[in-house]
Amino acid sequence: IIEILSNLFRSIIVLTPQDLLPSLYLCLNRLGPSFLGLELGVGETVLMKAVAQATGRQLDKIKAEAQEKGDLGLVAESSRSNQRMMFTPPNLTVVGVFNKLTDIAKMTGNASMNKKIDIIKGLFVACRFSEARYIVRSLGGKLRIGLAEQSVLAALAQAVCLTPPGQEFPPKIVDAGKGQSSESRKAWIEEKAHILKQTYCELPNYDAIIPVILKEGIDELPKRCKLTPGVPLKPMLAHPTRGIGEVMKRFDEAAFTCEYKYDGERAQIHILESGEVHIYSRNQENNTSKYPDIISRIPKVKKPDVVSCIVDAEAVAWDQEKKQIQPFQVLTTRKRKDVDASEIKVQVCVYAFDLLYLNGESLVRQPLSKRRQLLKESFTEKEGEFVFACSIDSDNTDVIAEFLEQSIKDSCEGLMVKTLEKDATYEIAKRSHNWLKLKKDYLEGVGDTLDLVVIGAFLGKGKRTGTYGGFLLACYDEENEEYQSICKIGTGFKDEDLEQHFNFFKEHTLPKSRPYYRVDQSTEPDVWLDAVQVWEVKCADLSLSPVHKAAMGLVDPDKGISLRFPRFLRIRDDKKPEEATSGSQVGS
Ligand code: AMP
Repeated sequence: IIEILSNLFRSIIVLTPQDLLPSLYLCLNRLGPSFLGLELGVGETVLMKAVAQATGRQLDKIKAEAQEKGDLGLVAESSRSNQRMMFTPPNLTVVGVFNKLTDIAKMTGNASMNKKIDIIKGLFVACRFSEARYIVRSLGGKLRIGLAEQSVLAALAQAVCLTPPGQEFPPKIVDAGKGQSSESRKAWIEEKAHILKQTYCELPNYDAIIPVILKEGIDELPKRCKLTPGVPLKPMLAHPTRGIGEVMKRFDEAAFTCEYKYDGERAQIHILESGEVHIYSRNQENNTSKYPDIISRIPKVKKPDVVSCIVDAEAVAWDQEKKQIQPFQVLTTRKRKDVDASEIKVQVCVYAFDLLYLNGESLVRQPLSKRRQLLKESFTEKEGEFVFACSIDSDNTDVIAEFLEQSIKDSCEGLMVKTLEKDATYEIAKRSHNWLKLKKDYLEGVGDTLDLVVIGAFLGKGKRTGTYGGFLLACYDEENEEYQSICKIGTGFKDEDLEQHFNFFKEHTLPKSRPYYRVDQSTEPDVWLDAVQVWEVKCADLSLSPVHKAAMGLVDPDKGISLRFPRFLRIRDDKKPEEATSGSQVGS
């Protein structure tokens, strides 16, 4: 896939470089950087209406066929071929389609629906070959071309290495890798891909990156596309561990700190030079309007000499009367957008644990000890509003065990253990081993929790007749870009949960399995479901499995891994299916 995409990009670079940016967005099914929050806002019903109107078919027929095929794109494609046209509209172009999609996203208000339908119809009548399939899928937000963002980045790096941009036409160099051994060619492309990926993590904005690549080349990226307050970066993630013993082994002689692992929502707080404050989620969504209370307290806790900065923190529900942390579930009841500060019922306390940028300087290459020191120098604590994550710097196992116990008593999930000096830079968007998480489940003698994707359902029996009684879960394997089955689950659900899941998933059923679902015949579910939701699941243990496919080949050549006694804990709305626990994490 990377090879094909890279060749496409190479042609674009040579022929129509101005198409590179919109092509990239079309591949990713996006309209711009995620922090701008530009969304199509075209629901399934509207899309069906547009398809019906454009093809002259009955809405009911379209609906029924979409239900049966599980893909409105295919329905659109086959409906289109029944159409006869009086005259042929001009062919669609990349820029044309991209601009039309952007126009749709920018329309707001109730009256805009018909205008959106008109634009979709306009696109639709100009479609040729399989274009209708992909345009309808793009509009529905489910492109399904098996491309994860990391592959798109790899393809882009490969393309600009082999066919350098900025050449006169016809280009002199079409394959700059010619003559190199395949190993050195691979290493060279990987090195450039690393620069590109690292830049993208610090500044996830193709609008800024692509012009630099086209004009100056990948090597200039670190100089020209830097971490910037106002543009959310990809957050650093942690690696799960099985206990204090493993932590000690992994960190060996290295100095480390243990912090409480708070159970709330990640909050990246950006203070801009203009004085504006923005807050972003773990997925770079703009949460600024969700937290007017946090915004208004920043001037009180920030020291005067802090002009601009980026703080990494967790926003946690807080009971002001009892002065204690409340469970994650309480936080989820808070309104998500346009919150009015006077109407806030669920209070939050910010637990700051990192400083990534300060007064014009990026700190991600600095060790944590330095970043933490600067964080503490830059802010003052205010109880229940803004405090530093509770931490101890100790390598004594008994002290750590006691601290872990205490974190649970203080309503936290466990500990985050982080290197302080050596290998202690902020490793963006990687589950590096510089941060390890140690959750309370280990204390209870049960395994870790995993974040898994629902890919199928089993029809309920007895009391559960009429709803789904169990589900098939999968982990996401980044390497193969596939969902690998890991267990069936039927425990941990309250009646309301089952009802909620049924109502949600009945809109996401599929007529057959997806090509990228790896499931053994013997565990096939009654109903296949689209991979759209992540659940946090707890289990007693992991075991080798002859049927399940998770981490297949990693631990045993022919066996996968499955969960023993899985229990449903909660829906993880903050994680996309591709961010579920990965096959390699299960394996390690
Ligand atoms: P997990 O989602 O289980 O991989 O755990 C990582 C998440 O824990 C981060 O994304 C943060 O939202 C949260 N977290 C809570 N406390 C801390 C802390 N002290 N350091 C880093 N992350 C934390």
